[in-house]
Amino acid sequence: MNDSLQFILAGNALFTVENVATGNRFTFKVRQPDDDKPHFVSVLTGSDNEHDYAFLGTVFDAARYHHGRRSNIAEDAPSAKAFEWLFRHLSTGHSLPPQVRLCHCGKCGRCGKTLTVPESVESGFGPECIKAIKGGRR
Ligand SMILES: [Zn+2]
Repeated sequence: MNDSLQFILAGNALFTVENVATGNRFTFKVRQPDDDKPHFVSVLTGSDNEHDYAFLGTVFDAARYHHGRRSNIAEDAPSAKAFEWLFRHLSTGHSLPPQVRLCHCGKCGRCGKTLTVPESVESGFGPECIKAIKGGRR
């Protein structure tokens, strides 16, 4: 699993994906409430970047992404297509093309705490969480 996918599926991921060629960007949350639950994907839809998230879809078995039938966002909306592309691309073993940047929003992908240590800001995980992630425990 590459680092980007590991971050996205860490349980509490908040990140922005930007296509620097087009200037398009979207902010996604991917939450896994429990180890035996799927990952729920939501997308930032308004100006309040703490609260304005809309349910987008679900990742099953950390492998298959499905657009949510209950989502208020159309399956062919740019944000929905962007996540679908991102997940398919990463989960089939590709790394991101140079024009696509994925940046975590300064929060640990696993526990959601704000990152302050430069190494952590680099990796997207706090010191304890990176041990758990890299050691194979989630
Ligand atoms: Zn953490």
